Amino acid sequence: MLKLENWSKSYGNHLVLDNINIDVPTGNVLTIIGSSGSGKSTLLRTVNFLEKPNKGTIHIGDIVQEVSHIPEKEIFKIRRQTAMVFQNYALFSKKTALENVMEQLIMVQKKPKHEAKEIAEKYLEQVGMSDRANYYPNRLSGGQQQRVGIARALAIQPEVILFDEPTSALDPEMVSGILDLIQQVAHQDTTMILVTHEMNFAKHVSDQVIFLDKGVILEEGTPSQIFDNPQMERTQQFIRGFS
Ligand code: ATP
Ligand code: MG
Repeated sequence: MLKLENWSKSYGNHLVLDNINIDVPTGNVLTIIGSSGSGKSTLLRTVNFLEKPNKGTIHIGDIVQEVSHIPEKEIFKIRRQTAMVFQNYALFSKKTALENVMEQLIMVQKKPKHEAKEIAEKYLEQVGMSDRANYYPNRLSGGQQQRVGIARALAIQPEVILFDEPTSALDPEMVSGILDLIQQVAHQDTTMILVTHEMNFAKHVSDQVIFLDKGVILEEGTPSQIFDNPQMERTQQFIRGFS
């Protein structure tokens, strides 16, 4: 599960996230929609402390932590509960697909190499990449790299996976394969927070949707509330822009 209370982030005097509250039960998928600059990536990046939030409380798995004076070792514990899937895949270019998935298992989770390899092979198989395990990223297509990115996230069995526009850098013909894969791994033990502009997909995969506007949650609800019957004019405009 992931719960954020009064979650805020500023850059200088620019308030980018203003008292965000979300509550996502274990195994659920929360989708964040909103225009460019509304704070979607910042919200994801503060959950794993790639950016430090200024204030708020996070509940993630068994951890409950107020963040304004958070000690480094607590940040490390929270990071270990999260994995991120990036728009640009962010694989290590000098490591093979298999080594990319093994990396955190060895470096962070301190698993012995043979065990890390077994786990990595299992997840590469799940994403349909067994036959490319020994390829370096520059010999993989975007869609294949993103499959490895997803295998890497799943392999560490985090409490929460954060997806930041996982298909927006892909060639159009690769998109549906990755969306199918996300659909296939959703609603298991892992909680997912998804930023996407794939509205049809979001409508099908999400349990909850929030519309973020200038750093505040302007509207939230079930997919059908937000996509079929939005209440706020800003939300209506935004949704119309995609149909
Ligand atoms: P997009 O859809 O374009 O990815 P987004 O909703 O993900 O947009 P963010 O990247 O979260 O938006 O940015 C939110 C706001 O925070 C923007 O106004 C941006 O300029 C600002 N911002 C983001 N990162 C930084 C930073 N490192 N320093 C200063 N301002 C930042
Ligand atoms: Mg973004």
